[in-house]
Amino acid sequence: MNLRLIIDAHEDLAYNALVMGRDFHLTAQATRARESHAARDHVALRELPQHGGLALLGLPDLLRGNVRVVFATLYATPANNPYNLPGRTYTTPEQAEALAREHLAYYALLAADPRITLITSRADLERVIAAREPKLGLVLLMEGADPIVRPEDAASWFASGVRLVGPSWGATRYAGGTGAPGPLTELGRALMRDLSRAGFILDTSHMSEASFFEALDLFEGPVVASHSNARVFVPTDRHLSDDMIRAIAVRDGVIGVVLYNAFLKQGWREAGARKDDVPLAIAVEHIKHMCDLAGDTRHVGIGSDFDGGFGVESAPREIDTVADLQKVAEALSAAKFGDEDIDNILSENWLRILRKALPADGAAQ
Ligand SMILES: [Zn+2]
Repeated sequence: MNLRLIIDAHEDLAYNALVMGRDFHLTAQATRARESHAARDHVALRELPQHGGLALLGLPDLLRGNVRVVFATLYATPANNPYNLPGRTYTTPEQAEALAREHLAYYALLAADPRITLITSRADLERVIAAREPKLGLVLLMEGADPIVRPEDAASWFASGVRLVGPSWGATRYAGGTGAPGPLTELGRALMRDLSRAGFILDTSHMSEASFFEALDLFEGPVVASHSNARVFVPTDRHLSDDMIRAIAVRDGVIGVVLYNAFLKQGWREAGARKDDVPLAIAVEHIKHMCDLAGDTRHVGIGSDFDGGFGVESAPREIDTVADLQKVAEALSAAKFGDEDIDNILSENWLRILRKALPADGAAQ
């Protein structure tokens, strides 16, 4: 089978390693086996899969599925989160910074593997894309901007290799977020200026509607939503209203559709949460709706969020591991998307954003 190039705009790799105690170098299958043995034998892995479900990915699965580029998160967990998330949490900006620096150090460690590259420049990107042997490039994304202690520290995070910043998760010191509406704060307005100046891509996923539109006015660079679905199908503030989708398209941005059943089908959990109830065709409905609003297929991609708090039992029917992202092509084809449109959605749109936003040559340390 001819594998298409795939870019996945949202995976919490460091969180899975550092908080869930997972080994990225194992296959998803091996991680599942390891965790089920641990549960049986009462071995104390740091956190067992009740928090994350059955693993969807590991490096071998990504390589096998030709998922060449992943936007990998630096995610610090706020102490006041409503989900009782495992691991250490922060209450102060300095604690958030320390947690995010640990994620950064983890990615530096991963990049010691010759198959893995930290992509900080266009030159890095093109090298990863052109490689003949299987490769994985990581573009670092800070999810929730609290680790940026002062807005002017944005430049030093850029110098550390981070290329996208999402100001919100829940509400942060910078902006209203999921389940916590509100505009940008005074600090948030300053952050938009410093993020623009440093050269970041703005990730609007998790931003409240008020902070989203304010941010688009103030931020001057490329705008994306790394992992968000269409609110018309799943009406919560976690997803994008039609106005937000149009606004991202007008900025020539891209939206990553999340392949999490509860984000694809309204009431899925309440209806008994059967994996079989959500085929990839439902994800294609989100994609198609966004394409219809944008007027073309240039503003949608994949932001799977695999291993972002859910596992294979909560992913669409056809998905066993991340390698099955290849099957999104078949689902799109069944819905009459053409070959070029499919490539746009699986990789070309994210490539366009990265080529526009990344500095030409590697300057980051
Ligand atoms: Zn998220």
